[in-house]
Amino acid sequence: PTAVPRRPIRELPDELISQIAAGEVVERPASVVRELVDNALDAGATEVTLKLLAGGVRSIVVEDNGAGIPADELPLALRRHATSKIASLPDLEAVSTMGFRGEALAAIASIADVSLLSRTADGPHAFRLDARSGELAPAARAVGTSVEVRELFFSTPARRKFLKTDATELAHCIEAVRRHALARPDVAFAVWHEGKLVEQWRKGTAEQRIKDVLGEDFLAASRAVEAHIGPLSVRGRAGVPDAARARADQQYCYVNGRYVRDKLLAHGVRSAYEDVLHGSRQPTYVLFVEISPERVDVNVHPTKIEVRFRDSREVHQAVRHAVDDALALPRAGQPEATGP
Ligand code: ADP
Ligand code: MG
Repeated sequence: PTAVPRRPIRELPDELISQIAAGEVVERPASVVRELVDNALDAGATEVTLKLLAGGVRSIVVEDNGAGIPADELPLALRRHATSKIASLPDLEAVSTMGFRGEALAAIASIADVSLLSRTADGPHAFRLDARSGELAPAARAVGTSVEVRELFFSTPARRKFLKTDATELAHCIEAVRRHALARPDVAFAVWHEGKLVEQWRKGTAEQRIKDVLGEDFLAASRAVEAHIGPLSVRGRAGVPDAARARADQQYCYVNGRYVRDKLLAHGVRSAYEDVLHGSRQPTYVLFVEISPERVDVNVHPTKIEVRFRDSREVHQAVRHAVDDALALPRAGQPEATGP
């Protein structure tokens, strides 16, 4: 028999539920940046501007020229499990937007001061909603949305203690935008920090964007990947073996436009390099895998950075062959090239 006193089962208050969700989704300012840019892109924005203070800890503002949120839906945008992106299980299974959980804004608003400023094309003007006070007031703005997040983790000092220097947090924020930017050359991005423009990527071709984001050197030392294998396609750039780096800091994998960290994909790429890269050298690549939504489950991880494939072998092989072809390396079972 145990002496632990039993406490009655209780439903948690909404605010606490959101704070728990925030624990999973928001690790640092860059997590907020990722969620807000996801939302801007889901709203069809072609221009996304970020304004950060103190590495994003003091303030993150993301402005977009997307469709906006009608005034009467602004309070809903902040509610837990409220979303415009799916309405049913079939919707979930075919989801093509970045978001669908309806959790991000609620979670962020539970650990920071959030305000939404938005205008739709048919609205008479913009409206601003302050999450903390609930005050909704007329405001001025072009069509689109600005989300402002101030004093991240103000109510959770334990979390705040884990933050690094402003410079480090800024670097993570920029990396979050870079991941989006690589996948969306049709969208212009700008990042301001403390009033200074620190990154700007103009609209252009996929190749131009890769060059702008990862540099001319990356482009020059990589080969085009373009393969259609069964139900999937793989395109992008794979670095030549000589371009390999000590750190795995130029490895970008996307599934249906979503940046993912996937062991299976990484392994597939790695195995294409296995004969030409030794030791711990890390290949560089930007790969976009397109697969029909029914063949991949994106609802695996709260931040959606992990995915699950219905047929993982098929994906592994496709990626391997696509990169193999790009590098023109001998496949397993074929004789090894005798290089210089
Ligand atoms: P999700 O993206 O999973 O739907 P969020 O909490 O991120 O959940 O956003 C809730 C809702 O608020 C979205 O479904 C969308 O309708 C609206 N929304 C959020 N950000 C924007 C934005 N930048 N532009 C237009 N609508 C937005
Ligand atoms: Mg979202």
